[in-house]
Amino acid sequence: MDAEGADAALARGYAGRLATTGPDGWPYVVPLLYVWHDGIVYVHNSRADGHLSRNIGSGCRACFLVDEPGSVYGYGRFDCDTSLSYSSVMVFGSVERVTSEEAKVSFCDELMRKYGSRIEGRPAHVYPRLGDISVYALRPERISGKKIPLPAPSAQWPAIDRTRSPKVPGASERRDARGDGSGPSRAALTGSCMCGHVRYEIDEPPLAMYHCHCSVCRAASGAGFATNIAVAASRFRVVAGSEALQAHVSSVGKRRHFCGRCGSPIYSHAEATSQLVSVRSGTLHQDPGITPRFHTHVDSKAPWTVISDGLPQYPNACTD
Ligand SMILES: [Zn+2]
Ligand SMILES: [Zn+2]
Repeated sequence: MDAEGADAALARGYAGRLATTGPDGWPYVVPLLYVWHDGIVYVHNSRADGHLSRNIGSGCRACFLVDEPGSVYGYGRFDCDTSLSYSSVMVFGSVERVTSEEAKVSFCDELMRKYGSRIEGRPAHVYPRLGDISVYALRPERISGKKIPLPAPSAQWPAIDRTRSPKVPGASERRDARGDGSGPSRAALTGSCMCGHVRYEIDEPPLAMYHCHCSVCRAASGAGFATNIAVAASRFRVVAGSEALQAHVSSVGKRRHFCGRCGSPIYSHAEATSQLVSVRSGTLHQDPGITPRFHTHVDSKAPWTVISDGLPQYPNACTD
């Protein structure tokens, strides 16, 4: 997650967990409402003596966590091929007590802005019990964040198979077919454009093959639909003619790469699914060993295209 994403997650988060360490070495974690303001995490609690005030009083480093759970999804054929979308941000730094009354009022204003709802008839910015609370400021020395986005349905099992259980019969047979790497190329598949100038290799059997009926794929291919394979971006590489490759940005964050000499569409890559590339199957040299598993973007299909193969049809979602 980049700094901008971490900043947004901290601004969006509801409650966080503040971890401090006592003089005796015991860790102490407490859930707290918080305010993310001007690049500082502010929290508060009762002024009464307790773990947090004692830990912070001894000059404490702290770690503050905000996380957002998402949804469970499958990406392969077994229960262990299951993941969870989520985001989390951790702020590391030193925490200190806020002593200025003006700063405490400012914190309360921000706290009410985030959590409170203005109720008519009560004065704003007036906090008679300000002396009963302690406010703490955590100044970041380092921020780290992680985000696992929820894949589109067409990038989840069973539409796509990313099984990671190599010892299970059937899960490794395509990988074994790659050989031991002693030959001139370890590529499982190769392909090229119409003029042969742009050539690519794929190190791994495709994760899925599908037909896309979206209007952009139809226009790019000049056909009723495009048949694509999804492969891991890390396993795909252009090995010749990269200087001739051109890219068309068909939507925000999505680039469609084609040969500038002959016009063949080669592959597309979207930031939203950055771990995958979608390769135009018609440019493959070999049998990829799989057949199409579904149709996507069928809401946009050409009126003269008749789908009669019995494969699942998704109205919108597209992984190409
Ligand atoms: Zn070409
Ligand atoms: Zn498409």
